Amino acid sequence: MAHHHGRGLSTLQLGTTDDCLETWILSGWGRRPVDDYLMTLYTTMQQIESGTTTVMYNHSTTPSSGLEENVNQVLKGFNEVGMRSAFSVMYRGQNRVVYDDDDKFIASLPTELGDALRAHVARNSISADDYFSLFERLHKEHGADPNGRTRVLLSPANVQWADDGFLERTKEYATRYNTGVHIHLVETMYQKAYGLRRWGRTPATHLGDLGFLGPELSCAHAIWLTDADIDLLAGSGATVCHNASSNLRLKNGVAPVGAMVGRGLNVALGTDSTAINDDDDMIQEMRLVAKLHREPGLDAPAITSHQVLRNATINAAKPTFFHDDIGALEVGRRADAVLLDMTSITEPYMDPDVDPIDALLYRGKAQDVKTVVIDGEVVMRDGRFTRVNKDDVVRELRERLGRPVEAEVLRTRSMAADLMPHVQSFYDGWSTDQGAPHYRFNARS
Ligand SMILES: [Zn+2]
Repeated sequence: MAHHHGRGLSTLQLGTTDDCLETWILSGWGRRPVDDYLMTLYTTMQQIESGTTTVMYNHSTTPSSGLEENVNQVLKGFNEVGMRSAFSVMYRGQNRVVYDDDDKFIASLPTELGDALRAHVARNSISADDYFSLFERLHKEHGADPNGRTRVLLSPANVQWADDGFLERTKEYATRYNTGVHIHLVETMYQKAYGLRRWGRTPATHLGDLGFLGPELSCAHAIWLTDADIDLLAGSGATVCHNASSNLRLKNGVAPVGAMVGRGLNVALGTDSTAINDDDDMIQEMRLVAKLHREPGLDAPAITSHQVLRNATINAAKPTFFHDDIGALEVGRRADAVLLDMTSITEPYMDPDVDPIDALLYRGKAQDVKTVVIDGEVVMRDGRFTRVNKDDVVRELRERLGRPVEAEVLRTRSMAADLMPHVQSFYDGWSTDQGAPHYRFNARS
């Protein structure tokens, strides 16, 4: 699982329906806070149920107090279930509301709304210095054991959310601690437009000019890449973490995966916590990827089932910084295995010439996964978790969420709703920066 933000319950379950990323993020501010430990237990069990053994986890909330305790609870959850994680905390240091200076945008709002927003932003931000010292503590405490199941990565949220100084410092820390960097990149057309407006070049080119690209870097989404961007990323050895479902659900488009694979760019698969069936079923996610990237025409390349399986396994292992330890069943690697019962996939008949990987990707579901082994340890046997009791976790979540929605949450929801029209009008005219005012399949110019 090459990109995920945890949360346990889906965003729909927590009250937000799909929307454009730029406004969907604001709706997310009004989601109920739920215990990080419990949520991690739940989300991790759901991932293991469809055969995930390693997750690239990106912690997306940064309260100005209590952050370290929260992330330690998440890591405790991974350890409890036995999941392997490439763990990072996301940093947003600027342009937190729209893709422009926070103070400038807040000053354009009615006073009461601006004051409420200023306080909200302050409550949910940390400084760059605090970020890097938190990284150092987490790396030392959780990520330093080469035989352990945790790696701690760095994560500037995106080029519009972290300034050049932060990006340069991130690169230095990644080199010093020999670890990975996880970033979101051109997830939306507005993010590409930000680069064109701010620097007169695409965000990927800007990162290249800064010397930020490299094999340690993984870029989530990367939908709005140009062909030149694809070559640039491929040449640097970076990875793209593709989230097909999330890209559809948040109105961001279809990533040019055929071109990425064709040009030698390493593509890994994730769900971004926003999978097509509103769960984390990676088998169905692989099916979506296999179907979505079948470009029209006899000569056009179509992604194969085997390629998609590689995207979900060996290619996804690369940016985790477990290196060659994971990603395939081979002597010398850590023993991860997923055992499936193929009965419902092949009953009542399957032609003997059908490739078993085709059969899995055409017809498989999480329910066919029976047993999951991580580092040689059986963490789920015949559908039952060996370390934790899923029913207890579900009961606890049901009880806690059965209480009335907190007053603070209701206030934030109402502020976010008041903000929406202002945010929408901020982006007036931005989509035409692409030269494609309406959606086009694989627009890469
Ligand atoms: Zn994400």
